[in-house]
Order: sequence, then C-alpha cells, then structure tokens
Amino acid sequence: MDSRFTQLINKLREQGHRMTPQRAAILKAFTENPSHPTVEQVYEQVRREFPMTSLATVYKTVAMLKEQGEIIEISLGAGSSRYDAARLEPHAHLICTGCSRIVDVDDSQLAVAPEYLAEKYGFNLHSQRVDYYGLCPSCQAAGQSQNQP
Ligand SMILES: [Zn+2]
Ligand SMILES: [Zn+2]
Repeated sequence: MDSRFTQLINKLREQGHRMTPQRAAILKAFTENPSHPTVEQVYEQVRREFPMTSLATVYKTVAMLKEQGEIIEISLGAGSSRYDAARLEPHAHLICTGCSRIVDVDDSQLAVAPEYLAEKYGFNLHSQRVDYYGLCPSCQAAGQSQNQP
C-alpha cells in the first residue's frame, strides 16, 4: 500500500496541480509529521532543504490542502493553528495546555460515538472535531499549573 504522502501526490497530480520538488517537500513534511506541526515548523523544516521556500508558499499549500479536505486544522486560539495531514480519519485530540503537545486518540469507545450520535439525533454527520484539554503526564510531573486555552 502506498504511503499517505504518495497517495496525496498522485491525487494532486491527477487533478492537474503542478508538483515542484519544493511543494512535494512541504507535503511530505505535513503528511509524515504525526506531532501536529504549525505552518512555521513546516516552513523551518522545508527551508533546510529548499532555502528559497517562503512562508507564503507553505500557507498557500495549506489552503489548497484544506480545500481538498486533505488536512485537519486544530485551532488553538490566539491565531495559532496546528495541522494534521498525517491521518484524515476522524479522531479526537488530547491537547496539553502546558507544553502544547497534541496526541491522537485511538480509542474504540470514542470511535463509536459518531454512529451513536447520528442514530440518536438523526444527524447525517460529515465531519467531527473533538478536543480534550489538560496536562500531559510529563507536565503533571513537572508541576505545571493548569492554563485554560
Ligand atoms: Zn505537556
Ligand atoms: Zn491528529
């Protein structure tokens, strides 16, 4: 089975998107980073290989991916957003307010929630967003105080 990166590149090519090595590097950085990076983090990473990359190019690529439904935006308020292009199937996030770590939740009990809600409330669901905020184990150990997002 092709990687998510390969699948995405092929899909965009089929749709007639121009695939420069730099754009491919941006897509790779987003799809192969499971830690929910910011646009700036991806920009810094891609610039090591392609120093000519501009922040605007990364933002444009994100806008294109959003249009295609190929990236999940996790907005944390105050203009800061994190992105998940590594997994597209609906999943909840645990967000640490101490160190901003974002963890994907793989839990079968949560996975049945959309089905239950669709049944109970008669909604035809097309997307979901579930974020839990708190302190991760290492921040608890470090005695971080709880900040509200
Ligand atoms: Zn933490
Ligand atoms: Zn995620």
